Amino acid sequence: MKKSIFFYIILFCNFSFSQEKDLALDLKTYDFELKEDIYNIPIVFHIVHKNFKDGDISDEHFKNLVALVNERINFVDIKNIDSIFKNIVAKPNVNFYLPKVDENCNEIDNISWHYTHVEKYIMHLDDVFAFKRKESGYMDSKKFLNVWFVNFSNRTDNVGAYRSFNFQLDGIVVDFEQLNYVNFPFLLIHEIGHWLGLEHIWGNTPFYVEGNCWDDDGIKDTPNQKGPNIRTKTSGEFCDENSTTNHQNFMDYSYDVGMFTHGQKKAMRDYIYKKRRSILWKSNCNNNSELITGFIKDTRDNQSYKWVQIGQQKWMSENLNYATSGSKCYNEELTNCTIYGRLYNWEEAQTICPKGWRLPNYDDWKRLTLVVGNNQNLIRSEQGWLNDKNGTNKSGLNIIPSGYKSFYGRYYGLGKYSKLWLNNSNGIWAYSREIGEAYNYEKITSTGQNQKKDYLSCRCIQDNN
Ligand SMILES: [Zn+2]
Repeated sequence: MKKSIFFYIILFCNFSFSQEKDLALDLKTYDFELKEDIYNIPIVFHIVHKNFKDGDISDEHFKNLVALVNERINFVDIKNIDSIFKNIVAKPNVNFYLPKVDENCNEIDNISWHYTHVEKYIMHLDDVFAFKRKESGYMDSKKFLNVWFVNFSNRTDNVGAYRSFNFQLDGIVVDFEQLNYVNFPFLLIHEIGHWLGLEHIWGNTPFYVEGNCWDDDGIKDTPNQKGPNIRTKTSGEFCDENSTTNHQNFMDYSYDVGMFTHGQKKAMRDYIYKKRRSILWKSNCNNNSELITGFIKDTRDNQSYKWVQIGQQKWMSENLNYATSGSKCYNEELTNCTIYGRLYNWEEAQTICPKGWRLPNYDDWKRLTLVVGNNQNLIRSEQGWLNDKNGTNKSGLNIIPSGYKSFYGRYYGLGKYSKLWLNNSNGIWAYSREIGEAYNYEKITSTGQNQKKDYLSCRCIQDNN
């Protein structure tokens, strides 16, 4: 049992690291957005199979896998991280999506199925290349991260994955088993780490080279260790007696929790910027990613709300409609609450979102616009707006013209605009996002101001802290 695990690890990891050492560059040429914000990377899947029928695994399953990878990379399960590592955990802000089109807006097959007569591939360089990835859906790796799912033979453990060395066929190959690991695609993320230039935390040397404290991964905040922790945190020996191994790191073999450090974050982002910048292409066809949506139930009254994932954030794509004695329905008509949600004063809005959700702030909206673009047309619903103001709703955010109520009594704007509370305020004033014709601007990030006593709509976002 153990022997075969070791056998495979030797194979993967000899091939999986990157040779490039010049990551720690001072990239003064970063423009602000690229430096500070989310890197969105298109990922395409190729299933090379003998015994499946095409489409046996649903597209939904792959979309969920992408969402899960994003969540695991960027929202570390911090409560399960050992206390000594908590202060080095970083959020890389690297986000993957399944593109619908290429750079020129041509539709692409982002999940492709390829029949092979080979029952099982042997995890060996020759065999891996034998399945002719060029004929198995390969897309230009300057523009896409290619991930192949194949059946590796003789596995007794789920360690079948590697990052290809061949820049002609650059990408990641993983065993089908990773598709069953949808709750924790550790290995896929590990290979993504390699693909983004990271080495194992003990360095480039194969783990079986004894006590290799002379080699390290070149990252300052990952403690040096002699070799990997394989499934447990005790087997990887540490080099500094006052230190310990970072066994929960994605670039170890422990499969425990999973985290990247600040140093790894910088290395990955530098690598993308320096070596893979062409993958950050954007098309002019808007909405290029498949929308990831779902529902949450508000346990206070059992109402369900649809949410949509935008970048790394989950936004409700409906206005909140939780009844309180202080909340209002437009024109006091209950059906308006059903359609448009309720209107709340700012103080109440602060605590009105369901458990695990919160009101968004300036930064949240800014991040949203970096993913979907900063044009109201992309977030307005496709119907319900007066005067030809229906939007494309390409973002899935689905903003509807819910109007508002002034604190002194009157209602304004139904069918024409929406005012959505931010949690930002100043004295008796608080701020909102104003979407719609009354304001005569098209940017999403234009800020409205209202008295805190006014009644506005609420959109909640998932609280990840
Ligand atoms: Zn590896």
